[in-house]
Order: sequence, then structure tokens, then C-alpha cells
Amino acid sequence: MPLYGLIGYPLSQSLSQAYFREKFREEHITGSDYEVFPLKDIHEFPVLLQQHPGLAGLNVTIPHKETVLQYVHERDAVVEACGAANCLRISNGKISAFNTDAIAFRDSLKPLLEPQHTRALILGTGGAAKAIAWVLEQLGIQYLFITRQPEKASAHTITYDSLDEEILSEYFLIINASPAGMSPNDDTFPAIDYSCLTPRHLLYDLVYNPEKTVFLQKGEERGALIKNGYEMLVLQAEAGWKIWNDDKS
Ligand code: NAP
Repeated sequence: MPLYGLIGYPLSQSLSQAYFREKFREEHITGSDYEVFPLKDIHEFPVLLQQHPGLAGLNVTIPHKETVLQYVHERDAVVEACGAANCLRISNGKISAFNTDAIAFRDSLKPLLEPQHTRALILGTGGAAKAIAWVLEQLGIQYLFITRQPEKASAHTITYDSLDEEILSEYFLIINASPAGMSPNDDTFPAIDYSCLTPRHLLYDLVYNPEKTVFLQKGEERGALIKNGYEMLVLQAEAGWKIWNDDKS
């Protein structure tokens, strides 16, 4: 019986298990299950595989999206480019790594893009931020990473302190790829000057719990178009399901 699941730590906020179990029920998919495997240390991964020989697919979340790559046998082009994977296929002992976050972000963003969205700010510099950057490159959208850490500053990365009115009036797409605002820290938000936002801005939050983060609320108050990460979650889950079941090459 094929088993699917999620590795990461901690996993209390993940909707993936509920999503897949509901999918199995609704689509009458029998003989499959989806479990959560909280792994504090990625070095526990080989033991997990031994304990669950029926594992056919895994989703990977914080903090293992990059470190899990030491155990994989092959990577798709997106994983190769951004150095992070959120989806593993396990077939005949071979582990293949994919990044369905990127595909899901692209497909949920594209219908919202308008001509002014030629430049973007990516808040955060982790695994998700790298996948977002890969997509923006594919779409021909220039971007800057925004970090809390001055030592990370470079040609493509600036700190929140350097994010001034001039930049905010030129970059109309702002993507929160940080956990700021995510439950249970609902009252937190990225430290940008929200008074500079306008109806020409599009704020995309990868966070989907709560549904409307303070980041999105503040954008909406300024007339910006807002989008949370729920559609991205669904699209990445469905892209993973397709990889696990349709495409065994
Ligand atoms: P991560 O590696 O833990 O964090 C991303 C970056 O955010 C960090 O590198 C850090 O960058 C910044 N950061 C961390 N804590 C922060 C805070 N309290 N305030 C402001 N910035 C902070 O996470 P990730 O895997 O890239 O994921 C980022 C977020 O996207 C998470 O909330 C995750 O749940 C969400 N996500 C959603 C989907 C979806 O399908 N909707 C998919 C993937 C990820 P600096 O230190 O450089 O500031």
C-alpha cells in the first residue's frame, strides 16, 4: 500500500495531511495514506525510510528543504537551480527531488500580473524565496531580496532599513516569503513602510494561515491587490500527486 507523507519540524501548522486525507476520501482513493513525520534532524531520514518501506512520496518543509538533498539520487532542473526541494518521489529505492513550490507559485501568480509588475521584492532569503526568485527569472521580472541580516546584503539583497520610498514606488510586486505573520505569530508582519503602497501594488503572501495576515490587511487598506498562499499550497500538493502517480520516468 503506497504511503505518502510530510517531513519537517515542527509540523503543527501544516495543512498537507488534512488536504491529502480529504482528497483520498473525496476522490475514493483507497489503499493510500498520508502521514506526518516530524524529523528534528535530517540525519533521521534514512531510518524513516527503513521503518516505512511503503513510502512512495514525501513533501518536505522547513527546515529540511535544502539539507534533504544530500540523500537524493536525482534532481529536477528547478531543484538544481535553486538548491531546495519540497517534493520527493521514492521508486525502487531511487529518490528523486522536485520543487513544486516554484510551479505552484508561478501558476497562481500569472493570472494576477499586470503591466506594472516588472520588478518584485522578495521578503526573506530562505528556500521558498529561492524558488520564487527562479520563477521571477523565468517570467522576466527583476527582483531584490529583502533580509533582516545586514551581513547578507549584496547586489541583489538589501536590508529592510534600506527599503525606502523610492524603491517601494518602483517595485509593484511584493512577495512575503518569510514566516512573519504565520500562526501562532498572527500579529507579526514584515517591517516595510506600508504607507508607500498603492492600488498599483500586488502583495502576495506565501503564508495561508491565517487567511489574511497583517501584511495582507495593511496592503488591502492601501488599496493593493492581495493574494494569500492557499492556492499555492493546493497547486504544489496536486503537482506532487501527479509526480508520485503519473510520471515514473
Ligand atoms: P524559512 O527558510 O524558515 O524562512 C525564510 C526566510 O524568512 C529566512 O531565511 C529569513 O530571512 C526570513 N525570516 C525568518 N523569520 C522571520 C521573521 N520572524 N520575520 C521576518 N523574516 C523572517 O522558510 P521558507 O521555507 O523559506 O518558507 C517561508 C514561508 O513560506 C513560510 O511561512 C512557509 O510556511 C511559507 N511557504 C508556503 C508555501 C505555500 O504553498 N503556500 C510553500 C512554501 C513555503 P532573513 O534572515 O534573510 O531575513
